[in-house]
Amino acid sequence: MSLRKPSEPRKRLPSYIEHGSLTAYTSYECRCDDCREGIRLYNARRREAARRLSQAKARRRVVG
Ligand SMILES: [Zn+2]
Repeated sequence: MSLRKPSEPRKRLPSYIEHGSLTAYTSYECRCDDCREGIRLYNARRREAARRLSQAKARRRVVG
C-alpha cells in the first residue's frame, strides 16, 4: 500500500475556472484540451502581432 495518491494535481483547482484562458493554463496548470488550445491561440496571436509590428517598423524605416 502506498500513502501517496496517484495523479494528484499539483495545485487544487477552484470549483470553477475558465478553461481556455491564460489563467487556467498558467496559474492553475490545467492542461485540458481547452486550455492547451487557448494557450496555442494566445501564442499564435502574440507571434503574429510581433511579426506585424516588426514589418510596420521596417516599412516606416524605408519611408523615412
Ligand atoms: Zn482546462
